[in-house]
Amino acid sequence: MKIAILPGDGIGPEIVAEAVRVLNVLGEQFEMETAPVGGAGYEAHGHPLPDATLQLAKDADAILFGAVGDWKYDKLERALRPEQAILGLRKTLGLFANFRPAILYPELAGASTLKPEVVSGLDILIIRELTGDIYFGHPRGVRTAPDGAFKGEREGFDTMRYAETEIRRIAHVAFQAALKRDKRLTSVDKANVLETGQFWRDIVTDVHREYPAVALDHMYVDNAAMQLVRAPKKFDVLVTGNMFGDILSDAAAMLTGSIGMLPSASLDANNKGLYEPSHGSAPDIAGKGIANPLATILSAAMMLRFSLNMPEQADRIDAAVKSVLAQGLRTADIHEAGTTLVGTQAMGDAVVKALN
Ligand code: NAD
Repeated sequence: MKIAILPGDGIGPEIVAEAVRVLNVLGEQFEMETAPVGGAGYEAHGHPLPDATLQLAKDADAILFGAVGDWKYDKLERALRPEQAILGLRKTLGLFANFRPAILYPELAGASTLKPEVVSGLDILIIRELTGDIYFGHPRGVRTAPDGAFKGEREGFDTMRYAETEIRRIAHVAFQAALKRDKRLTSVDKANVLETGQFWRDIVTDVHREYPAVALDHMYVDNAAMQLVRAPKKFDVLVTGNMFGDILSDAAAMLTGSIGMLPSASLDANNKGLYEPSHGSAPDIAGKGIANPLATILSAAMMLRFSLNMPEQADRIDAAVKSVLAQGLRTADIHEAGTTLVGTQAMGDAVVKALN
């Protein structure tokens, strides 16, 4: 099994190092090869997604990704900015289905900003379409407004668009995921305002006819945002487009106490995937040894489950993470009174020890 290791920028290298240590103690033979991506790719080869890095990602059975981005690259032209690497990988590898489970470990109920009774026992799955929507739609740009109340002024514009095939395939992924859980799916859109939203709703409704065992409901994105903080446990699986999913999944992350706890998987049609924590490169804490590596370690567990067909090893990692939380070990982002504050490496050490 070949795993491409792409640590990236900021805290990326620190947290990926801990996940690699965890993979190394499982007793499996993985071929792991590391390559620069994001700002690190730009520094090494003048591009955030160097050719050799893309080739490695294509050749691998799975990709373990840290995070990319740093404010120091904000002045670069858009095509050279670190974040373009992740968009390029998603697009080139056809990674259209993003899985973000938001699970609240009972030990962390107090770390959530919501009341424990609202979030304890939370176990929801957000499925976000990743390769379409306004993030990829054309035309886009800055121009002189051709019409409207501000005609003649400079304006920025983007295009929200979704092809029927794109909606159908993510809907199938979502219904199939719901079948393996509590069989409830909420499709999130903005059908009351956007043409794309009504089209999304119509296609998801049509696909539903193939999954009568799943209960489907539709929700506008503004209401979904509200319900996620009001009564998040009412959800089972949510499916939504690229932009709404981006925002809702970060909100869901906070339900779990910290974005440092939230893993993610981005899969193609054959379950090859890129696995990464849901958070960014956290430049504010990079190099301090205090980042939470658990989201990345849990992402490695998802990789074993979805792409490498090693569900028992994935379960072992999940259990090891639960065990270190039960021991009271906490990085700064989830630390509260009565628990033991540890750094990135010590948290990795504890997971490795629990696995051994
Ligand atoms: P961020 O997720 O990097 O950080 C938000 C806040 O959460 C920060 O206070 C940070 O310290 C904290 N945080 C994040 N991960 C943590 C962890 N593992 N442990 C403890 N605390 C953690 O988001 P941001 O600050 O908006 O963005 C920083 C950079 O990351 C930007 O350049 C952005 O474009 C990039 N980014 C990259 C990805 C990606 O690589 N997939 C995703 C989101 C943002």
